[in-house]
Amino acid sequence: MISDLVIIGGGAAGFMGAITAMSNGLRSVVILEGTSKVLEKVRISGGGRCNITNSCWEISNLVNNYPRGEKQLIGLFNRFSTTEAFDWFQRKGLNLKVEKDGRVFPSSDSSEDVIKCLTDLAKKYGVKVFTNSHVKQISITKEGFNLLAKGSNFFVAKNLLICTGGHPSGRRLAKSLGHSIIPPVPSLFSFSTSEDSLKSCSGITLDVQTKLIVNKKKYSGAGSILITHKGFSGPVILRLSAFSARYLHDNKYNGELKINWLCMNESEARSKLNLYKTKNGKKLVFNSKPFNNLPRSLWKSLLFSLKLESKLKWADITKLQIEALIKCLIMKSYLINNRGPYGEEFVTAGGISLKEINFKTMESKICKGLYFAGELLDIDGITGGFNFQHCWTTGWVAGKSIALNQ
Ligand SMILES: Cc1cc2nc3c(=O)[nH]c(=O)nc-3n(C[C@H](O)[C@H](O)[C@H](O)COP(=O)(O)OP(=O)(O)OC[C@H]3O[C@@H](n4cnc5c(N)ncnc54)[C@H](O)[C@@H]3O)c2cc1C
Repeated sequence: MISDLVIIGGGAAGFMGAITAMSNGLRSVVILEGTSKVLEKVRISGGGRCNITNSCWEISNLVNNYPRGEKQLIGLFNRFSTTEAFDWFQRKGLNLKVEKDGRVFPSSDSSEDVIKCLTDLAKKYGVKVFTNSHVKQISITKEGFNLLAKGSNFFVAKNLLICTGGHPSGRRLAKSLGHSIIPPVPSLFSFSTSEDSLKSCSGITLDVQTKLIVNKKKYSGAGSILITHKGFSGPVILRLSAFSARYLHDNKYNGELKINWLCMNESEARSKLNLYKTKNGKKLVFNSKPFNNLPRSLWKSLLFSLKLESKLKWADITKLQIEALIKCLIMKSYLINNRGPYGEEFVTAGGISLKEINFKTMESKICKGLYFAGELLDIDGITGGFNFQHCWTTGWVAGKSIALNQ
């Protein structure tokens, strides 16, 4: 039997597409999920809490959180943005809460409730879900599409929505239907450095200003950094990694990270240090804490990196040493030599070329009746719920367009 719509991939985008299509009048929707469980990434997301979206309600600000897809998302968000996603889930009975940093989670702090909400709705609208149904091949027919899934199972569809996330098989299927793929590279990762002086500071988090230089290209950011045993992580680093993802990949993850540990300019740092020196001449430099926000172990490690003597007193510190210290505090340079482990969330940058998609409908410009949504597209966001948000948005727009086109 021919289905109005077959969706490949039972993830966030696939479920949103299926529910939207059925609730807008489509008669038959099938989800084919390759693994034994649907919505597995929702389950593990946000450390099991699922950071479902973000309270960044202003579209002009919201799109700044997408290193890829920023332009295309403006129109899409005008139709279904963070506000609509928040209301959609609340109206469907999932209570949500907004945390101080803007991240939105289910009030229960359990991703299982997001899964329950989506699977209950799919059931209510009569979406047929087939697990263990990895789609291997697609052919175009007069009526639409023939699909060959695991176990030689065949499915026939009028319309096809591919939402296979970062999985390579989805890109292969799209390529077989004529689409070009922007090569996938990792996004949202930490940075490794061979710098030894920070080893004792592992676990420290503080607000900093940063500049990443990759082969003369500069990226800057401000926010919380986490010093790890191998280098740097935390929101400001993950954001830098997302915006420089492709360039860093092409440069074998080599770059220079400059950190302003004080978030101060040179003259502010100089006058603070000189005042401290005047008032504390007899104190040992190593045992001091001239800047409240700078943890003691980090202060010591910066002094070590300058090879200052441990017995040095403020009264004996030279002008030259003060200048070196200022430079170290406000523009300390670290060589980045590799990509470190991922944070809590990771995504793929790259995917289906956005030039080949009609963003009013999410339909392919190359193949009629073929639609795409979610991470499979060359769209990705930084951490904070922005990745699920574009999945809800593109899934919703695709589902709605397919239903309205029938
Ligand atoms: C550990 C982790 C934590 C995360 N936490 C967050 C978070 O808190 N907030 C946030 O916004 N984002 C988070 N993300 C990112 C977010 O999970 C993804 O952006 C999102 O899941 C992508 O949704 P999707 O529907 O496009 O793809 P997916 O969720 O990956 O779903 C695709 C589905 O397609 C199936 N599939 C693939 N190929 C085939 C095939 N050939 N046939 C049939 N089925 C197939 C896969 O098995 C999968 O179930 C996290 C990611 C990770 C890895």
